[in-house]
Amino acid sequence: MADAVALRQALAAFLGDTQYRKFVARGMYRGRMAYWQEQEWTRFTTAHPEFAVDLNELAAALLVCHLHGDELKPDTAEVFHGCMDLARWYVEARSRLFPYAAQDVISTEGRPFEGDRIGVLFCPACRVARAGWRRR
Ligand SMILES: [Zn+2]
Repeated sequence: MADAVALRQALAAFLGDTQYRKFVARGMYRGRMAYWQEQEWTRFTTAHPEFAVDLNELAAALLVCHLHGDELKPDTAEVFHGCMDLARWYVEARSRLFPYAAQDVISTEGRPFEGDRIGVLFCPACRVARAGWRRR
């Protein structure tokens, strides 16, 4: 497999910073790319055939924070059995400053779920940013 760091660097250089972050943030939904990602991926792998990995490898390589670039790490979060609304100002701060802190309680929104913890992926830099934001 191509080195994930080298692949990300080459893809970022090829797409440009803004488009690369958009590509990473969109990720793979149900193991598939969006149409515009397929177009970009075809352009990239035509120029860089050494990075023409399959979708599973690409999805694994792109498990990074689109804001900080850190690789996402597994953790668990508390589950709230019921519906819960977060304040809009908090949701906006989270998506702008620490999208992968993954330290909020996760509500089931009425869906059946066994247990009190659920697996999440987090970015260490997002957790640092969230802690700094909370101190202010
Ligand atoms: Zn982050």
